[in-house]
Amino acid sequence: MTPLLHRLHPELSQTLPHLALGTRPTPVRRLTALGAGADLWVKDDSAFGDGGWGGNKVRKLEWLLPDALRRGRRTIVTVGGLGTNWGLATALYGREHGLKTVLALVDQPVDDHVRRQLERLRASGAELHLTHTRARTVLAAPLLLARHFSGMRPPYPLPAGGSSPVGALGYVEAALELAEQVRSGELPEPTHLVTPVGSGGTVAGLALGLRLAGLSTRVLGVVVNDTLRLDHRSLTRLTHRTARLLRRRGARLPETRTPTGNLEVVTDWLGTGYGHPTAEGEAARRLAADLEHLELEPVYTAKALAALLALDARGHFDGGPVVYLNTNGSR
Ligand SMILES: *Cc1c(COP(=O)(O)O)cnc(C)c1O
Repeated sequence: MTPLLHRLHPELSQTLPHLALGTRPTPVRRLTALGAGADLWVKDDSAFGDGGWGGNKVRKLEWLLPDALRRGRRTIVTVGGLGTNWGLATALYGREHGLKTVLALVDQPVDDHVRRQLERLRASGAELHLTHTRARTVLAAPLLLARHFSGMRPPYPLPAGGSSPVGALGYVEAALELAEQVRSGELPEPTHLVTPVGSGGTVAGLALGLRLAGLSTRVLGVVVNDTLRLDHRSLTRLTHRTARLLRRRGARLPETRTPTGNLEVVTDWLGTGYGHPTAEGEAARRLAADLEHLELEPVYTAKALAALLALDARGHFDGGPVVYLNTNGSR
């Protein structure tokens, strides 16, 4: 299966390898019972991963794993919270492709979901280091990297959430996929695409991919993490770094297709902090489950939907159409 990015830019098919891990395209459908004004849709990426583990991290791994393998790396070293979806997806998919995962884990509020995630992480074969705070993770990182050389080969280091430029390609690809669905008449061209911002790769990739596809859809990112710098400037920077990666690997990107102002960031739905549920999020989660059979979780997807519904009620979307991108990775 040729990824859409390779079809759009055949010059990348040799320089940016891709490994298909999920079923595409993920479904889109209209949300008929939610919302106050705008025409609402969902693109459901929870249906993406094969083998039951889905969500947005798998799209990033489709580009990250083959990049690590191409460089001859044997170990991925990365970081996440105690309940990290990113760490678990990396450990499970990495193992299938001969890559070991080493994880530095930072504290986050512990509930039943996080406890279960930790059990899965322990069972995944990943090497776990409880570094507790961000400062201690920064101190431990050089040691972890030095310890996991395989002969002369360094490990493959990845930022939280896999939000490197290579990881962001997963959502460049998802945006191209959405554009195909628009083109084939499955849904109207959205004015907005709403999704959570946990480490930024998802929205940064979407902003670039929508431009490459020639859509004028705006990305509205709902920040749910206060442990990383995720303001408009840093997210735009990641978009630009991703475009630069494509150019460096040989893509002829017209300058006009470089993202400029199609990303918007809102921070009012974070609540007390990363991993702390909010009342608005819980209400949105119940509505989504009861009215639309959409399963969300409290850390990311419920807060993003709460933002969408509140902004819709205020008339922010002016009728839409608005697509909610469901990044949840339910089993
Ligand atoms: C990681 C994650 C996100 C955030 O995506 P980023 O690319 O890290 O911003 C959103 N939803 C879920 C369920 C996630 O696990």
